[in-house]
Amino acid sequence: SYRKGGYHAVRVADQFAGGRYIAQRKLGWGQFSTVWLAYDIQTSSYVALKIQKSAAEFVQAALHEINVLSSIANGDSSNSRCLVQLIDHFKHTGPNGQHLCMVLEFLGDNLLRLIKYNHYKGLPLSKVRAVCKCILIGLDYLHRELGIIHTDLKPENILLFSAIDPSKDPFRSGVSPILEKPEGNTNGGFTSLIEKRLKIRARRAVAKISLKRGSMGGIEEAPKFGRNIDGIDMRCKIVDFGNACWADKPLAEEIQTRQYRAPEVILKAGYSFSVDMWSFACIAFELATGDVLFTPKGGGQGFCEDEDHLARMMELLGKMPRKIAIAGAQSKDFFDRHGDLKRIRRLKFWPLDKLLMDRYKFTEKDASEFSEFLLPLLDFAPEKRPTAQKCLQHPWLNCKESTPNETINESSVEKVNIGMSNLKIKVGK
Ligand code: ADP
Ligand code: MG
Repeated sequence: SYRKGGYHAVRVADQFAGGRYIAQRKLGWGQFSTVWLAYDIQTSSYVALKIQKSAAEFVQAALHEINVLSSIANGDSSNSRCLVQLIDHFKHTGPNGQHLCMVLEFLGDNLLRLIKYNHYKGLPLSKVRAVCKCILIGLDYLHRELGIIHTDLKPENILLFSAIDPSKDPFRSGVSPILEKPEGNTNGGFTSLIEKRLKIRARRAVAKISLKRGSMGGIEEAPKFGRNIDGIDMRCKIVDFGNACWADKPLAEEIQTRQYRAPEVILKAGYSFSVDMWSFACIAFELATGDVLFTPKGGGQGFCEDEDHLARMMELLGKMPRKIAIAGAQSKDFFDRHGDLKRIRRLKFWPLDKLLMDRYKFTEKDASEFSEFLLPLLDFAPEKRPTAQKCLQHPWLNCKESTPNETINESSVEKVNIGMSNLKIKVGK
């Protein structure tokens, strides 16, 4: 994709916006962009630089995203709504064309990496609760105050956010928001590379960039990138508003990433804010178990991915009411007039609380409480799903006591409970 119309190739120490931003290292990438950590010499802080592909449709999408991000920032002067903040934007011309660039507040790793570093085991429920609260605060603001639907909520689009201002010192803090080890050698390898190149280029082109050890974070030493998530402050923010839309002006019919897609989207029955609530429930399950809730497969067996997806939803949630099943523009492809799937006739029902106990070894109490939280969000009737505002009041989120499930080992349990005064909880076995 590094060709005309595609991504812009960035090298460490490249300069943007007339030398204001200096590229440090790649943070991530998506279908539309690459995202780089950059140093802002004007404010002496770190930012994330999202550099869009240059073809016309990507420019259009970036303009739209800037529009959405500006609305978000305008209404959130205290930056407390758990949505990423846009700082600046500009155009950058490179060999592959003209790229729109968004300067965003610098956040930490995304939740998919967090799940990965936790070896797909599922996080302690206290952490799942904390993440859920942040996502809901963000969604409540987005839905109720701005009238915007995100339409692409998934773990990759939720980023950790350190309690310590990450823009000031992203690498040295004990609760670094960054889990990922920089590429190259672990022991400050990438920082020394930056240091070298930065020094040369900075001397040449930029007036004064502080290279004092410590003052620029990463220069001193690489962070302690644990493969262990115990010490991480669990605050996060929602990012990636490239597909977001105002509810009264839907952009596309097919929205959401497959696994997080709501049934009404598959059936083409129209959608609203509640599609985000469906995805939110899928994310909460994934955080708690380490597994994706719905992983439909298609092809080869006489049915398509969509039908398999619907079947899996029903195996977990019970049969879809006939009225809903047959109401979408696409319904006839999957359902007969009785509201039964056309090609997948035999469903193996496995209700959520049982699944949590049988496969994920949740205690009965944890399983039933967590299911009570999730199931209303997974209602086939979109209008019955609770809003983010309503969901924030759910007792599960405000549950003080944490009962770690049995997948957590003894040593991590103590650490998990550190934040909870001196309360020590013994786990079974
Ligand atoms: P795309 O629209 O191309 O999917 P995203 O906005 O989702 O782009 O960004 C791609 C990836 O870049 C994210 O999954 C994340 O890992 C990283 N990223 C995005 N924004 C930030 C940020 N503000 N701070 C740190 N990393 C970020
Ligand atoms: Mg993305």
